[in-house]
Amino acid sequence: MGTIQYTPPADGRLIGWVQDRLQVPDKPIVPFIEGDGIGPDIWAATRRVLDAAVAKAYAKKREIKWLEILSGEKAVNAGISALSQETLDAIRKYRVAIKGPLTTPVGGGFRSLNVSLRQELDLYACVRPVRYFAGTPAPVTHPEKLNVVIYRENTEDVYAGIEWPAGSVEARKLAKFITEELKSPVDSEAGIGIKPMTKKNTARLVASAIRFALEQGRSTVTLVHKGNIMKYTEGAFRDWGYQTAAEQFADQTITEKDVYDKFNGKIPAGKVMIKDRIADAMFQQVLLRPEEYEVIATPNLNGDYLSDACAAQVGGLGMAPGANIGDGVAVFEATHGTAPKYAGQDKVNPGSLILSGVMMLEYMKWNEAANLIVNALGKVIVSKVVTYDLARQMTGAKEVKCSEFANEIIKNL
Ligand code: NAD
Repeated sequence: MGTIQYTPPADGRLIGWVQDRLQVPDKPIVPFIEGDGIGPDIWAATRRVLDAAVAKAYAKKREIKWLEILSGEKAVNAGISALSQETLDAIRKYRVAIKGPLTTPVGGGFRSLNVSLRQELDLYACVRPVRYFAGTPAPVTHPEKLNVVIYRENTEDVYAGIEWPAGSVEARKLAKFITEELKSPVDSEAGIGIKPMTKKNTARLVASAIRFALEQGRSTVTLVHKGNIMKYTEGAFRDWGYQTAAEQFADQTITEKDVYDKFNGKIPAGKVMIKDRIADAMFQQVLLRPEEYEVIATPNLNGDYLSDACAAQVGGLGMAPGANIGDGVAVFEATHGTAPKYAGQDKVNPGSLILSGVMMLEYMKWNEAANLIVNALGKVIVSKVVTYDLARQMTGAKEVKCSEFANEIIKNL
């Protein structure tokens, strides 16, 4: 395997991390991974939209200095590994990166490049905003009432993959131990999975959800758990979540109980209300009372289910953006895959990656540019000039290519 050296643009500057805060210069160096399959198409569209929005919002004062870094097939073709040390180091060094979808090469060293990226960089929060764009076909009567940002724990829970198949030596040994030593009967022929959850990992996830709510002016954070049944994991998540709010954000947060007991149900100005809901009830709540939820913090498995369900409610995964965020390092990415059958056809919807770019701008506190894109994208969808995936569900739509869809957004900035 070869190595690679990345040469950053000479006039770009490093993004800093000082006292848990991102310090973004006017010309930050931002690495991008183009991605495989449809990646090059949607990345080209996204890059043009992001650049145009930044230019429009800040004239010449601000500009993203892009640095291409390689992963996936493009890396392998360049003679380096699909996820090289140099690529990981570049993301760590430049702190904010954006990527297209990646194919995990068959026979390569990694089970999934995306999972490896999250683990290697300790990107512990999977962040998925879900909002409705008027005109998008959706299965509920009022899709516009749902506007939430889901913070899903990314590193532990049953998702950590600690499990043994039924009948294996390990599963039988564990079943015997639990039955005989811990006095909780487990069938000796059971498959066994372990669900580890810690205070430290819960606290950092919940803290980033609260910080986001404070920064973006959202008034509630809801802890979603199944603590009535799984008391020492999911129940502990709820307790640790409330503790985190009380310990780290005492002056800026208030519990739902206090809001009702002491403030007649009205959240005091400037405070974020912390509440919790049991996961099964929460699936009803997002359908029945979506307007009562803004930021959601939840363990890995609940978050997996809930983010797809919420995305479906507002019209599907095609426009669902995502980010994986750690302490001072973040990777923004489309939530869909490489859709290989459409590769190189300039056909697919770049919306998911563009909106991931919007999240990136918001993370950099370049909210003016982010808002320009959201408004323009909204106008384009209402005008029904859309890519095939949306066009086929709308009446009277004009189908355009991926690059033309980007042109439309740029025209409407
Ligand atoms: P996929 O998301 O690539 O495709 C499923 C279908 O969704 C496509 O056939 C297409 O009809 C539609 N689709 C996806 N993106 C679209 C877009 N932008 N616009 C319009 N339609 C779109 O899922 P898959 O087929 O299961 O996976 C293909 C490859 O992608 C696999 O190699 C997988 O490992 C990889 N993958 C990568 C990521 C990632 O990088 N984060 C995520 C999921 C899958």
